[in-house]
Amino acid sequence: MHSKSIAELGAAMRAGEFTSVELTRHFIDRIDRLNGELNALITATPEQALAEAEAADRAIQSGKAGPLTGIPLVQKDIFCTRGVKTSCGSRMLDNFVSPYDATVVERLKQAGAVSLGKANMDEFAMGSSNETSYYGPVRNPWDRGRVPGGSSGGSAAAVAARLAAAATGTDTGGSIRQPAALCGITGLKPTYGRVSRYGMIAFASSLDQAGPMTRSAEDAALMLQAMAGFDPKDSTCADQAVPDYSAMLNDSLQGLKIGLPREYFYEGLDSDVTASIEEAIDLYKQLGAEVVEISLPNSGLAVPTYYVVAPAECSSNLSRFDGVRFGYRCDDPKDLEDLYKRTRGEGFGAEVKRRILIGTYALSAGYYDAYYLKAQKTRHLISDDFKHAFETVDVIMGPTAPTPAFALGEKVDDPVTMYLNDIYTIATNLAGLPGISIPVRAVDGLPVGLQIIGNYFNEGKLLNAAHRYQSETDWHRQIPEGFA
Ligand code: GLN
Repeated sequence: MHSKSIAELGAAMRAGEFTSVELTRHFIDRIDRLNGELNALITATPEQALAEAEAADRAIQSGKAGPLTGIPLVQKDIFCTRGVKTSCGSRMLDNFVSPYDATVVERLKQAGAVSLGKANMDEFAMGSSNETSYYGPVRNPWDRGRVPGGSSGGSAAAVAARLAAAATGTDTGGSIRQPAALCGITGLKPTYGRVSRYGMIAFASSLDQAGPMTRSAEDAALMLQAMAGFDPKDSTCADQAVPDYSAMLNDSLQGLKIGLPREYFYEGLDSDVTASIEEAIDLYKQLGAEVVEISLPNSGLAVPTYYVVAPAECSSNLSRFDGVRFGYRCDDPKDLEDLYKRTRGEGFGAEVKRRILIGTYALSAGYYDAYYLKAQKTRHLISDDFKHAFETVDVIMGPTAPTPAFALGEKVDDPVTMYLNDIYTIATNLAGLPGISIPVRAVDGLPVGLQIIGNYFNEGKLLNAAHRYQSETDWHRQIPEGFA
């Protein structure tokens, strides 16, 4: 059952081959047996899942089922879930039970999906390896000595190891696409504003965006359909109609113009990664696409710009964790200052503290112009690069990450090397553009991700290009050893 796609599972349940309760039990059993090896879930909610599955079975029986009815998935632990612990991977929220559902959670529930639990993640979504989580690192199902990527590493590992049919993720600088690449799954970061951020714990509000993490583009289309759309509770959510994504999947790629940025294929790029990407691009040519070289001249500014903007916004967003309102509180505070200091000192991990310090520094009166204002200007230049590129091409392609999955512990003590892992994903967040990562030819048994970047609100085109590739290849169907 667990090797089937969302569409196949839905069809099988509607045909009466098995019920959602049976399917949900099957995944609960897999989580019980296999999560210990991977640490992909922080919280499992089997009772709630079975109750939701029973309701889904009633909907299926009465002919009211939609494509997600009865489909078991996991939610990244950054999404508020009513009555269920919502930790954001942090000691700060280890005792936090949300009183309400995030819009994404509510919409997936309305669509009939079943929630198996909450996925592990880097603390407050800060990281590229899932090693900053208070709950310990997640292991990559393809090689348990390697990282799954981050920050949505638990979601990616859960989908790759078939502990759930799909998962939600969030992407501030690459956190859906990079773990999708390292775990061999499909991950879509939508256009900023496509999906509501209400109830999604904020890291960097001008960059954060939720999206689906699935086995295939076909599944991602079904998930995005349920997640996307205007929400009056999020003032940055776009009031734009949501197209029928599944209907666009099979559009012809004849004449599709693909731009390959010169800057993404620099000399130092891992040669196996380059070969895998080139092979994928050749397939696109066979499918009728036209490939042109383009330039995104300010690509080199993306990482430094991000590491001013994101910490600046996080230093402001995370000021709400003060030990007074909710979450962790230190023992026996002497006075208010002691309460703030010790709560934050004990509740946050090292990476979160580093970001708060950088952000506070960048925003301080004497340095604001030199860092924050400058970063806003370079952010603009990066967006303009894409604007120019999309005047001549339909999509941009390149690697999602510079290497396949790296070893646990390999980069954790060197933040700058770790930050460079997001060199290909960060610019799209700064520009607010959508991007998808799909698995292409593996290197020594480790998946490699192809990233496809599109123009604003062009998720349909990305899903179409991804689906056509997946119709011709089976990299997305591979299951890591021990999880088949
Ligand atoms: N890895 C990047 C960071 O550490 C991006 C994280 C994300 O997208 N949430 O900030």
